[in-house]
Amino acid sequence: MSILVVGTVAFDSIETPFGSAERILGGSASYFALGASFFAPVRIVGVIGQDFPQEYLELFSQRQIDLEGIKKASGDTFHWRGRYHEDINVRDTLELHLNVLSGFVPDLPERYRDAEYVFLGNIDPLMQLEVLNQIRRMRLVVCDTMDHWIRESLDGLRQVLKRIEMLVVNDSEARLLSGESNIVRAARAILKMGPKVVLVKRGEYGVLQFSDSSIFATPAYPLEEVFDPTGAGDSFAGGFLGQLARSGDLTQQGIRRAIVYGTVVASFTVEDFGVKRLASIAMQDIEERYRSFAQLTDFHT
Ligand code: AMP
Repeated sequence: MSILVVGTVAFDSIETPFGSAERILGGSASYFALGASFFAPVRIVGVIGQDFPQEYLELFSQRQIDLEGIKKASGDTFHWRGRYHEDINVRDTLELHLNVLSGFVPDLPERYRDAEYVFLGNIDPLMQLEVLNQIRRMRLVVCDTMDHWIRESLDGLRQVLKRIEMLVVNDSEARLLSGESNIVRAARAILKMGPKVVLVKRGEYGVLQFSDSSIFATPAYPLEEVFDPTGAGDSFAGGFLGQLARSGDLTQQGIRRAIVYGTVVASFTVEDFGVKRLASIAMQDIEERYRSFAQLTDFHT
């Protein structure tokens, strides 16, 4: 069962307490696609500029990611610059250059329009809506967003929220979107905006899942070294939706397993700069860490 993702394909410049990197491959769609590609075939919809290197595209191709939906436009690629604090959960956006992303109107290749599993990655909500309008039938739509879009494009985002099943946000985004400081109240308020499930990412503290009838909590996988947290959220979503597409199991139990797969994929992402670690692992590594995660959280009531 294939997955369609729309989001940014970007250059990232990153500073962490452990080092820095300039103009490396990043973007919400890139991290999502690489994370999901271990589980199911992935198709990307996005835009790059003339300056985007072929070697980055080859990295996607090596993982069998379908690139027909990536448009090459005249201009420069989206570029994000961020800096992490000593407390690695805290980051500042230093620069955000939309470049070719401003004015981009997604136009899905015909064979993408029957997508059953859709991830509306972090991008302008108006582009997320455009993608939804072009898809004929969907089984599950999961959406991500960011403080930038909550501030700049709230009306569009509210329209998106009415048309999706699940929203993935981090704790500060959940607070900003809902106006509630308590995270449980924030999630409840967001559920009223449309989605049936809200997943709140809390960095090294893990993920909380809310629906009308249940709450589920998982920790992050404990690592001795977190090198670069960029893309943790997007690759979490990749592992999560990848597992749902692979299993077809959308029951509460199936969703819980998918959350753990997402957590495991994200734990690899943060072990090195950019997509480096994600590009070097195999499904077997994910399965092994999934089993050790089960041990970590196993107890009998
Ligand atoms: P994450 O660490 O999972 O929240 O995602 C980080 C990725 O989001 C980086 O690779 C950036 O290129 C990308 N990004 C940063 N700001 C934005 C934005 N406003 N819209 C879309 N993508 C963004």
